[in-house]
Amino acid sequence: MEIYNKNEQKTAGHTMGNFNHETGVYQVVMPYNDHRGGGGNHSHEVPVFARTCGCGKWQNLKIPCSHGIKVLQGRHLDATSYIDPCYNLNNAIHTYSHHFVVPSSESLWRDIRGPQWVPDPQLLRAKGRPMKSRLRNEMDGVQ
Ligand SMILES: [Zn+2]
Repeated sequence: MEIYNKNEQKTAGHTMGNFNHETGVYQVVMPYNDHRGGGGNHSHEVPVFARTCGCGKWQNLKIPCSHGIKVLQGRHLDATSYIDPCYNLNNAIHTYSHHFVVPSSESLWRDIRGPQWVPDPQLLRAKGRPMKSRLRNEMDGVQ
């Protein structure tokens, strides 16, 4: 819900661009945003029936992204009902409803029957930082 609320706040700056009501594909345009290092000033395509967005967040998180919310609100739909049911409380409780098996104490573990692994002393690294083979130049700040 926190993600959803943040996304909903972001919709304020978005505007709807071209759209096709029949296919349900909408374009959401983000304004130029100087506060975020020149982010924005781009658009995402939102195939709303597929519950996906060009930004990739809707399909990954199964929560409508800011672009998706903008489109759903534009269509007078309740965007919260597009949050995947996997996030509802009953499903969250169900995830942890099974019994947990507590691992037995390490002293009760059985010995492993198998090959013994011995480290190769030739491959041991020397103490300290490994030697650098890169040549330093003026770009490293060396005068
Ligand atoms: Zn999006």
